Amino acid sequence: MIQKILIANRGEIALRIIRACRELGIKTLAVYSEADVQSLHVQLADEAICIGGPKSSDSYLRADRIISAAEIADVDAIHPGYGFLSENAKFAEQCESCNIKFIGPKSNSIRIMGDKAVAKETVRKAGVPIVLGSDGPVASEVEAVKIARKIGYPIIIKAVAGGGGRGMRIAHNDVSFAKEYHVASNEAEKAFGNGAVYIEKYIEKPRHIEFQILADSHGKVLHLGERDCSVQRRHQKLIEESPSPFLNSDLRKKMGKAAVRAAEAAEYENAGTIEFLVDAKGNFYFIEMNTRIQVEHPVTEEVTGIDLIKQQIRVANGEKLDFDQGDIKFERHAIECRINAEDPARNFTPSPGTISLYYAPGGLGVRIDSHVYSGYTIPPHYDSMIGKLICHGTTRKLALQRTYRALSEYIVRGIKTTIPLHKAIMSDPVFIDGKATTAYMEDFLSRTPVDLF
Ligand code: ADP
Repeated sequence: MIQKILIANRGEIALRIIRACRELGIKTLAVYSEADVQSLHVQLADEAICIGGPKSSDSYLRADRIISAAEIADVDAIHPGYGFLSENAKFAEQCESCNIKFIGPKSNSIRIMGDKAVAKETVRKAGVPIVLGSDGPVASEVEAVKIARKIGYPIIIKAVAGGGGRGMRIAHNDVSFAKEYHVASNEAEKAFGNGAVYIEKYIEKPRHIEFQILADSHGKVLHLGERDCSVQRRHQKLIEESPSPFLNSDLRKKMGKAAVRAAEAAEYENAGTIEFLVDAKGNFYFIEMNTRIQVEHPVTEEVTGIDLIKQQIRVANGEKLDFDQGDIKFERHAIECRINAEDPARNFTPSPGTISLYYAPGGLGVRIDSHVYSGYTIPPHYDSMIGKLICHGTTRKLALQRTYRALSEYIVRGIKTTIPLHKAIMSDPVFIDGKATTAYMEDFLSRTPVDLF
């Protein structure tokens, strides 16, 4: 039985995991960098150990120090959260070999899904549609152009080592391809230390619709419905909701089954997400699997009433999922807004600093997952998300009204945030009509005066 968990993460997700552990009667160990001494996860965990300097590469990415901390504090399991080491197969393996449970899939599943070419081939064999593209990294510009012509423009160039929407470029013909190919490769080299890129057919104005998977170690694989994450800026998600206003029940069933098959093909265990792009005609294509808990997991929790973090811990403990696909009810609509310390009126420049006053909204159907408080200083070393607002209602209309109401109550002084931007989106007819594709934000920003947010 798991009795003590090390949380190899920071911010709101660390807090989220502590909350689940407390309800399960499991002790927690926080690890933290010198920049996070003030952080709530350090204060709320049962124990805390400093593992290094502010830079992630000196702390949250130091597998050796994290495992040492786990051994010193005698924990049974490590929860990696999202980002940092969460999709690092070697780290999962190190945990396994030190007899510490890694709360996530087996390292082999991470490896399969972590290599985008292997992932696509694996799910294709299981009968899941994939986006046409190169078989793995392209060797040279000459080879890449040949493949691009064969697939047909427009083409998207993506970094093999990519993530978080970085290192992607779009080309519409041979001339722009030559330019974008080098830009993408150089960007990838700088951001990830690996310049390798692969190419795919660029699906125009698709929806990003992903399915939440939950699988135990006894072969049961279930899906917990979808999340529509089409509202993105520079391929990074800003708003997520479930159910998707685009899917009908036939397509939802078809995609849910495909998602389960994709997870089964990787012998998947624990929580994970199968991401699809869906075109205007309802054709859907697998793009990747995230082998970890995701930022937007609360949307699914609010719709289904299932605590995903607790399920992750139970699965890691070897327990069977005690419900079947037919038992999962989708009775509510939920919307999540990512609150970032950024100035949307100034091209989303980061706005770190001290929060002089913080007041979070509440009331029926409102949930806040956040690690910040009045007087908290946002360190400049990590991502800019300071919290998530998740509102639910029995209908999409109610969830929208509630989100707008909650955003209007939210007070964060001392820094700039995306709260006013979210308010503007919640009153935008295109979003209200459920018509947003991944092209939505660019259009919204071009037609909305900045003084509105
Ligand atoms: P990352 O691993 O960086 O998150 P993904 O492959 O998940 O990258 O893609 C992130 C986003 O980029 C998608 O949600 C979508 O908006 C866009 N995208 C990725 N691949 C394609 C494609 N083939 N056609 C159109 N848009 C794409």
